[in-house]
Amino acid sequence: MATASLRIDLDAILGNWRALDALSGPGTETGAVVKADSYGLGAARVARHLARAGVRKFFVAATEEGAAVRQALGEGPEIFVFSGHMAGDTEMIGDLGLTPMLNSLDQVTRHFESLPGAPFGVQLDTGMNRLGMEEAEWEAVAPLILSAGPRLIMSHLACADEPAHPMNARQLDNFRYMTDGLGVPRSLSATGGILLGPDYHFDVTRPGIGLYGGLPFEAARPVVRLTLPVVQIRDVAPGETVGYSNTFEAEDETRIATVAAGYADGLMRTLSGRATLWHGDVPCPVVGRVSMDLITVDVTHLPDSPRELDILGPQQGVDDLADVAGTIGYEILTSLGARYQRHYVTGAA
Ligand SMILES: *Cc1c(COP(=O)(O)O)cnc(C)c1O
Repeated sequence: MATASLRIDLDAILGNWRALDALSGPGTETGAVVKADSYGLGAARVARHLARAGVRKFFVAATEEGAAVRQALGEGPEIFVFSGHMAGDTEMIGDLGLTPMLNSLDQVTRHFESLPGAPFGVQLDTGMNRLGMEEAEWEAVAPLILSAGPRLIMSHLACADEPAHPMNARQLDNFRYMTDGLGVPRSLSATGGILLGPDYHFDVTRPGIGLYGGLPFEAARPVVRLTLPVVQIRDVAPGETVGYSNTFEAEDETRIATVAAGYADGLMRTLSGRATLWHGDVPCPVVGRVSMDLITVDVTHLPDSPRELDILGPQQGVDDLADVAGTIGYEILTSLGARYQRHYVTGAA
């Protein structure tokens, strides 16, 4: 087998959902963010597994993603679209019963005129300056919007992964000021906000990365294991070099395993000469450049020839690899490429 295997533990995702759900009280409903194909892990499978366990609110970034999730789930669960009601999306939103989070007066007008009576939510900007209506705009249109019965009012925190950051309390104050007493369900928190405590929970939470085993949810169960098949093993003599630009030169007799994955599979070139692969619990250093389809690994110290090596698994999680690559777990996950065979497992398997 020449393609790597990405093993995704659906029950670990569900376990993480339950753990995050348990952090908020019974008055808070925990949704699930499945944008970007469930952070690269496969939105259809993930959403179906969570819906079967009772999750009723799903969140995506774009209408097209919402359409795919609706196809996987059928009617019933609510699917909220962060980017709102964009021009050209009307038919899909209407036909598939998606709930756009309206971000501007333009979107409010478009939605009310093209799909009168159809469900919608509202996104407010409380300081991040990315999406949502600002205070003045909101005050002007709030009566119109409230009379049409929004399903949800939400905002998003910019610094929730830093609990001591003063921005959190500032955004919380702004959110309360803009929404207290309106009688509409509210949502402020993604994974980081859930961990900030009950003041931040409101009626609905929107965890993403925590479901998939990433920081800032330190207690998360690991979800992915990525195993790369060894294509070839060779012995390299002292003075020989390995890979593009000769960045590795052997000092001693060295055994090099070449594994089938590279930067086209989301294993960034910044991992060159720095990352570690694992044979069980034995670390094997990457030597030389990561190329498009292949990575070279020093396996001199292994007693026999490995058939495969792990790059994500029990010894090295997504945030460990992200540290080496100089990025965050979110980017490692969403970069995982289309060439992997995705295997979904449930239970302890
Ligand atoms: C991506 C996103 C989330 C989920 O964030 P995590 O940090 O992955 O939990 C929630 N809300 C909005 C608006 C988002 O863009």
